Amino acid sequence: MKVFKTVQEIEGFVNRQKTQQYIIGFVPTMGALHKGHTSLIQEAKNRGCVAICSIYVNPKQFNNKADLDSYPITIEDDIQILEKNGCDAVFIPSNDEIYPKETRKVFDFSPLDQVMEGIGRPGHFNGVGLVVERLFDIIKPNYTFFGKKDFQQLAIVKHLVKSLNLDVNVVACPTIREVSGLAMSSRNTRLSPNAREQAAEIYKALKYTKQNTLKKTVKELKEEVERMILSNPLFKLEYFEIADGNLLQPIHNWEDANFIVAFIAVEVEGVRLLDNITLIG
Ligand code: AMP
Repeated sequence: MKVFKTVQEIEGFVNRQKTQQYIIGFVPTMGALHKGHTSLIQEAKNRGCVAICSIYVNPKQFNNKADLDSYPITIEDDIQILEKNGCDAVFIPSNDEIYPKETRKVFDFSPLDQVMEGIGRPGHFNGVGLVVERLFDIIKPNYTFFGKKDFQQLAIVKHLVKSLNLDVNVVACPTIREVSGLAMSSRNTRLSPNAREQAAEIYKALKYTKQNTLKKTVKELKEEVERMILSNPLFKLEYFEIADGNLLQPIHNWEDANFIVAFIAVEVEGVRLLDNITLIG
């Protein structure tokens, strides 16, 4: 596997692949890689792509400095994991490579960024937009692979690709979970063993929501699941929403949309854990 740190190097690699008619599959990450990330690499390889992964902790998508400072960095392990998973190249840029000059660009993602993560983390999705546009401009991928684990981010990226008319296919990949059901996340490593065990309750609550979809009113089910989460003293519920899976706006009745997703964000020991489940559609 090739390791590149500069835009010039990775662009040279991409150009060589493209002149040989290879298809580029791109997986952007912030490192501290786990099986959720490698599932995206595997999907790129299954589709016959030259798989390129990026590892870049994008400061512009962190609205909380403590979260940025404590973000796990495990580059040596990450490189080994990528090698083992058949990744062809990894791009590990510095801030100067990604943002050579200061940018004030503001995206209009409305209404996708007006809810959930967009409320709790002001500026977060604008930062995601900046880095994704820049990385796509460098790598010029034919396909890019994103996890449904970060469902709102996926919706934002699809919106960005459409609005900028970019020639890239965004492939949505399933959430990979620990044996307990907890969605894999780089931030899980910051949980104590006890909290990590209890965090499995989050997915249980989502499964309960799915089992009771259409059996109760949206309001009843929402309140019941909120109570379940709040009953655990380790959990601080940020939001639990039952929403339209396309526009991400909360629904009030099951008839309000054909594609319905439940979204949850819970803070556990200072770590924000996100998850979601498709209820209908
Ligand atoms: P991150 O490194 O957290 O920025 O994530 C990089 C990519 O991996 C994003 O597309 C995430 O949605 C995806 N990802 C993170 N965790 C998982 C998971 N448990 N299952 C599937 N994809 C994931």
